[in-house]
Amino acid sequence: HADLAMYEAKAKGRNTYHFYNQELNAAAKERLMIENELRIAIKEQQFELYYQPQVDCRTNEVVGFEALIRWFHPTQGMISPVKFIPIAEATGLIVEIGEWVLWEACRFAKRLEEQGRGNNISINLSARQFKDSNLKALLSRILVKTSISAQSLHLELTESMLMGDVEVAINQLLELKMLGVSLSIDDFGTGYSSLSYLKRFPVDILKVDRSFVKDIPADSNDMEITAAIIAMAQKLNLNVVAEGVETSEQITFLKNNNCYIVQGYFFSPPLAEAQVPELYKQLALKAIC
Ligand code: C2E
Ligand code: MG
Ligand code: MG
Ligand code: MG
Repeated sequence: HADLAMYEAKAKGRNTYHFYNQELNAAAKERLMIENELRIAIKEQQFELYYQPQVDCRTNEVVGFEALIRWFHPTQGMISPVKFIPIAEATGLIVEIGEWVLWEACRFAKRLEEQGRGNNISINLSARQFKDSNLKALLSRILVKTSISAQSLHLELTESMLMGDVEVAINQLLELKMLGVSLSIDDFGTGYSSLSYLKRFPVDILKVDRSFVKDIPADSNDMEITAAIIAMAQKLNLNVVAEGVETSEQITFLKNNNCYIVQGYFFSPPLAEAQVPELYKQLALKAIC
């Protein structure tokens, strides 16, 4: 890729070449910086989990939370997971980070349960974690130690993680299902999973990607696609969660199309644990109105 960029740049002349070269250097430098800083972040525990509620929009009740990692770097402030998760994945550091995420999120779920707010907890798995032969044993340990119910643990996978060797993926999914956990396909509709495979994957939930939801009701194609995904999920007996729901128009559209579980800024951004009690208060007030 880099070679190609340089070749094209050279063809365009020396200045452009220089420009590309600098850009590539800057990208490589940032990557290396993040990689080094990630190792320190693990040691010094600079990560935190935030929790975004998934809400039943008929009753305004919280039905679960998705755990989303945040990296608070001592000098650079918050670094987005979009920036560092791919690097953690490429370097293998994700396995250690992901293990921490699983423990931390399940302990959070246990604390909620102890407050009488037992709820589902959704956790994003990376491709490396999904392939890791220790994953099943790790999950059993976590389920035993935290004593949360297995079905309330929802593991989020993406289509691309399942589409390589489909038979291997199906076996992996079956192994996880044997633990009793629930499985979701995240960002559904953005990957390449074919519908015939979807039927064979033992998954429980489809999460409609934000990219289809965000331009509802302005974009009629997106409305058609979203409605079709919801209808298909129902036919396959899967639950549906809509991601990135920001407006009441989107809520109305989703309700009219039989999708009731929504996640997005309309109800709440991802929150630090300390903000969660306030969320319950706010939603209770909304429900009364
Ligand atoms: P995702 O799993 O699809 O998570 C949803 C993302 O959409 C989150 O971004 C969330 O903050 C954002 N979001 C939620 N509602 C809205 C909304 O109404 N509008 C908009 N514009 N955005 C909304 P975030 O937290 O930056 O995470 C980005 C991605 O990073 C996640 O996408 C997930 O793929 C990955 N990620 C986050 N935490 C973890 C983790 O612990 N492990 C792994 N492997 N990946 C993670
Ligand atoms: Mg997710
Ligand atoms: Mg998603
Ligand atoms: Mg997404």
